[in-house]
Amino acid sequence: MTATSGITSVGIVGGSLAGLFHAVALTALGLDVDVWERSTGRPDDRGAGIVLQPDVAWFLREFCGVDPEHVSVPVTHRQFFSGDGDARTTPMRQQVISWGAIYQALRNALPAERYHDGQPVTALAPGPAGATIHVGGAARAVDLAIIADGSASRYRALVTPDGAPRYAGYVAYRGVVDEVDARATRMRNHRILLTGDAAFVVRPHTAASTEKAAGDAITLFQALRRAPSADTALQTWERLRLAEGAAIQRQGVNLGRRLSLDGPEAAAGAHDRTQKGP
Ligand SMILES: Cc1cc2nc3c(=O)[nH]c(=O)nc-3n(C[C@H](O)[C@H](O)[C@H](O)COP(=O)(O)OP(=O)(O)OC[C@H]3O[C@@H](n4cnc5c(N)ncnc54)[C@H](O)[C@@H]3O)c2cc1C
Repeated sequence: MTATSGITSVGIVGGSLAGLFHAVALTALGLDVDVWERSTGRPDDRGAGIVLQPDVAWFLREFCGVDPEHVSVPVTHRQFFSGDGDARTTPMRQQVISWGAIYQALRNALPAERYHDGQPVTALAPGPAGATIHVGGAARAVDLAIIADGSASRYRALVTPDGAPRYAGYVAYRGVVDEVDARATRMRNHRILLTGDAAFVVRPHTAASTEKAAGDAITLFQALRRAPSADTALQTWERLRLAEGAAIQRQGVNLGRRLSLDGPEAAAGAHDRTQKGP
């Protein structure tokens, strides 16, 4: 008997990377997974600058059959510009990948009929044996609900009372703006899980948001496969992912301080997570 014997159906709110990582991993466990995504069609790409961290690379290889080397490019250094216009170059060997390449690999790995785009979840309610998800005027009972609706999560409060985003005190320009921290103190309310950016919004300098979403999914896959019961698996998952999310967030806060106080070298040395294995 595996932990998944207590869970057959899974409903995922949000079909961006966190939702898709979980959908693909749990489908591989043999579960009956549906993803509801409010937007229609392929979302806009978010650029080519996502650092290919170990969990994402592992996920692409193991679950999507994609060689990460084939969909990423190497970079050799980063350039920092100071307020007075000086440019400084720091050697940093990393692979970078586009948001769209990850998204497409995940979509290809998930049966198309399981991804329901243009269908916003309008209500989510916990139940004694799972949760009820309301979509398009219908109610769907599932054994496990996963909230992956992003940093502005509508359903976060069902799991954690104090995870709402707070302004971090500064704005980082990265072509786009990312200006908040959010930190969950819980990621589970019985059979409802909070994941991805809905749980922790971390600062862009960590280059770890996508990695965190992949790590949430891999850890859930492993916990459900190994634990003696579904409840034990979900407890283990919450403990491990709360610790990891908090660690990445601390890293981002420290890095932000060091960026303003210590200059680019300190920043360069502090956020390379590429040595960490899944
Ligand atoms: C511009 C930009 C650049 C980024 N660059 C990097 C980077 O370089 N490196 C990195 O690691 N990360 C980066 N990130 C973050 C990364 O994209 C996210 O961490 C990752 O996608 C996981 O996010 P998520 O799936 O939790 O949330 P999101 O990507 O925010 O997705 C939430 C999804 O839920 C859907 N949704 C919301 N409400 C509902 C509802 N009621 N019903 C159904 N669907 C709903 C939304 O439409 C959306 O598709 C970037 C993000 C942005 C916006």
